[in-house]
Amino acid sequence: MIVGIIGGGFAGMTAAYELGKLGYKTVIFERMTELGGLASTFQVESGVPLERGYHHWFTSDTHVIALMQELGLGERVQWIPSKTGWFEQGKIWSMVSPTDLMKLGTIPLLDRVRLGAATGYLTYLQRDKKNLYKYESITAHDWWKKYTGDNVWDKVWGPMFRGKFGARADEVPMVWHWFKIVLRIGSRRGLNTEELGYPRGSFQVLIDALEKAIEQKGGIILKGATVKRVVVENNVAAGIELAEDENTRGALQRANIQPNERGYIPFDRVYSSAPSFATLKFVHELPNDYVAKMNEAKYMGAVLIILKLKQQMTPWYWLNIADRSMPFVATIEQTNFIPPEVYNNKRIMYVSNYLDASSPYFQMTREELFNAYVPHLKKLNPNFTPDWVEEFWHFKEAAAQPVFPLRYSKKIPPLHTPIKNFYLGNTTQIYPEDRGTNYSVRLGQDIARLIDADAKSGGWGDNA
Ligand SMILES: Cc1cc2nc3c(=O)[nH]c(=O)nc-3n(C[C@H](O)[C@H](O)[C@H](O)COP(=O)(O)OP(=O)(O)OC[C@H]3O[C@@H](n4cnc5c(N)ncnc54)[C@H](O)[C@@H]3O)c2cc1C
Repeated sequence: MIVGIIGGGFAGMTAAYELGKLGYKTVIFERMTELGGLASTFQVESGVPLERGYHHWFTSDTHVIALMQELGLGERVQWIPSKTGWFEQGKIWSMVSPTDLMKLGTIPLLDRVRLGAATGYLTYLQRDKKNLYKYESITAHDWWKKYTGDNVWDKVWGPMFRGKFGARADEVPMVWHWFKIVLRIGSRRGLNTEELGYPRGSFQVLIDALEKAIEQKGGIILKGATVKRVVVENNVAAGIELAEDENTRGALQRANIQPNERGYIPFDRVYSSAPSFATLKFVHELPNDYVAKMNEAKYMGAVLIILKLKQQMTPWYWLNIADRSMPFVATIEQTNFIPPEVYNNKRIMYVSNYLDASSPYFQMTREELFNAYVPHLKKLNPNFTPDWVEEFWHFKEAAAQPVFPLRYSKKIPPLHTPIKNFYLGNTTQIYPEDRGTNYSVRLGQDIARLIDADAKSGGWGDNA
């Protein structure tokens, strides 16, 4: 049996790897010329890879850590204390420990006490997963306002949610925040320190190891190959038709694969890990009720400027920007987490923004963005001048973060689609956890298990 996999991010690669272990043949089609999807890297210094978007793991990310170990990379996982801050009212406030929360001078003391008590309640008394239904029926906006008053939402969480979810901030279900808080505190070693994981050599080491392991098991990987259509015959996925661009043709030639006389590559099963809107462009036969489910989650885009600096900007790894007059939502200074020596003694800093793909900031060129950001970077360090910047990069991604509606557990599109032998597994089906490489690895494993079970039973999930 041979499985066509659309997307060479962590979900697609893990599915191919697991299927290879089970003895199935796989072909991955990735439209980009490199693997890794949202976690892919570029060279920030000659031979030094860095993620396009800042990446780290929490100690709760057990699936991806186990995969690192399985691939012989266990020794590379480093756990490093991280320093999180909060910028508001022209000042940086530490946000590392509960004591810091109590010192947050942007809201009155009583509100800080309420905030601390509510966070403690969620963290320690609400850990049980059965609370999911309770928290998915109310928005975070309504929950925090109800239990802690207006200030905690308006001055603390509201600005952060607007930063991550833009105009949809007030719609985000409490379940997202509840799970994030439970997992985040679970990532702490002791109350006052948070340790985050990062692989020595960057996330590229895992991407490379997966690529090698997939190929060792007989899997084929086509980089630069864009899928144009999933071919469906009598409501059964029959194969994949590719785009006719030069990159795709080159990838096909290198792999020595010829489409059949009807213009497609036949497969027994097809799995799409591409975002829902991208999948809907190449699969046209899905029925309306399933398409409606695919459209329930809305995607936020991410825009990143990465600065290579001569000097340190701030002492913080992660700085939340709660000051909404500033045009970005966080800065992540990689070299306050990973030593500058790794980057040839340069300082590396991400300036991050989550926004709707229709936002003007999403459309700006890298120069326009840089010029818009410079006056605000000076607020973080008054000594900063643009000549500190040796080089900068610009990346944007339309499907960076799904935003779920209330009671989404009842609306998630099943991994088995109504088209027989066609599976969908992307970040909109990771719930209630926040999307991340760990959960894409888990999703890829789930898809491989489903394909194996279906192949053995000859059935088709609930739709069989
Ligand atoms: C700014 C940012 C910061 C993040 N930080 C973290 C972090 O700290 N820790 C963490 O674990 N995770 C983090 N994540 C999330 C993590 O990167 C993703 O959850 C994960 O990589 C998603 O993997 P995936 O395989 O499910 O999807 P994707 O990586 O989106 O893979 C889907 C692939 O499908 C391909 N594709 C789409 N259409 C086609 C087509 N027509 N033909 C062929 N291929 C196609 C795409 O090119 C893509 O490679 C972050 C993400 C962003 C954007």
